[in-house]
Amino acid sequence: MTFRTLDDLGSDLGDVTGKVALVRVDLNVPMREGSVADDTRIRAVMPTILELADAGAKVLLLAHYGRPKGQKNSTMTLSWVQGGVEDVLGREIMFIPELTGPVAAQAIGILGNGDIGLMENTRFWPGEEANDADFAAAIAENADFYVNDAFSAAHRAHASTEGLAKVLPAYAGRAMEAELKALDAALGNPEAPVAAVVGGAKVSTKLDVLENLVGQVQHLIIGGGMANTFLAARGVDVGKSLCENDLTETANAIMDKADHAGCTIHLPYDVVVAPEFAANPAGLRTCNVHEVGANEMILDIGPQATEALADVLKTCRTLVWNGPLGAFEIEPFDTATVALARTAAALKQDGSLTSVAGGGDTVAALNHAGVADDFSYVSTAGGAFLEWMEGKELPGVAALTA
Ligand code: ADP
Ligand code: MG
Repeated sequence: MTFRTLDDLGSDLGDVTGKVALVRVDLNVPMREGSVADDTRIRAVMPTILELADAGAKVLLLAHYGRPKGQKNSTMTLSWVQGGVEDVLGREIMFIPELTGPVAAQAIGILGNGDIGLMENTRFWPGEEANDADFAAAIAENADFYVNDAFSAAHRAHASTEGLAKVLPAYAGRAMEAELKALDAALGNPEAPVAAVVGGAKVSTKLDVLENLVGQVQHLIIGGGMANTFLAARGVDVGKSLCENDLTETANAIMDKADHAGCTIHLPYDVVVAPEFAANPAGLRTCNVHEVGANEMILDIGPQATEALADVLKTCRTLVWNGPLGAFEIEPFDTATVALARTAAALKQDGSLTSVAGGGDTVAALNHAGVADDFSYVSTAGGAFLEWMEGKELPGVAALTA
């Protein structure tokens, strides 16, 4: 995958001093009592903002916040995030309440070289989500080039994520660049053998992911609630486990497709079961998948299966992971997820495994296991990460591809 980055600015545009950059970032940060409660997303885009500002560009930050549905809404103004951005950058920034027209032009005119402006919530205007070409052109009127540093919004074809790339010279910011390189190393152009772990609650939410992966990877490890549906499809009685019986045919079709593609599907042969989903409940036990009682539910994969999966990872060069192997929120059903995550972390430290993970609960599980920093890359992008795992082309990324 080739795309333009900030490294191409010089040869394309010459010195960026005094040039106006529109920089799409993700500022959908959690707020508490009017201030930023978690600044992870702001810290992620800080390198791009400072690199451009320090090169003398006038930096205009563009982002959405919440779902105001094309109308101004004082509860979703980005002016609330201004202080949080200033805290992270260690610089004062200017809030600009309009994206187009005389107010925007006048505010941008005041900015000096290296100054930073934060523009109002892009979704206050219907042209954003409609990806209206006139709207994008009107925003672009005040700028010289466009930088997208928001992979998490790249699965949307909106004016600020895709439209602007059509009317201005367009570049991936540093966070976007790192994410695209990591994802490319995991699925686009990976070193084989590749293993994928797909876990989580339901097959129905990840059908497209499974369908795509069986054609891409050599080992597909299925855990979590969705393993139950696959086990049921193979004729296993999973008791009162979470199981989508209406999807057993689909599960069989995926297993057939995997067979033809030379992809080995790994399902657990031992599991941890309990009569209820509670911490260390009475009746907790480990058994073979064929011994699950009618009143029991599978809440984690068992120790033998976990060990076998560790052996699989040891033979692989690349790992992509989405979804926990068990109901990891409650002990001891985090055991397999934590153990396999630690195996993956150790293999990455040995230099034998490139590992990329993503998904809201997956990130939480890796943090819980204390190994998030020992993966090659952990994506916090949610929907965009899943669409990428589905093999879909993301419009915001396609627009940057040379
Ligand atoms: P992500 O957010 O990383 O994409 P998911 O949302 O798909 O992951 O899955 C996470 C959820 O799956 C967790 O709430 C976890 O409790 C649930 N889960 C995992 N294994 C099981 C299981 N055996 N039975 C029921 N729920 C499970
Ligand atoms: Mg989730």
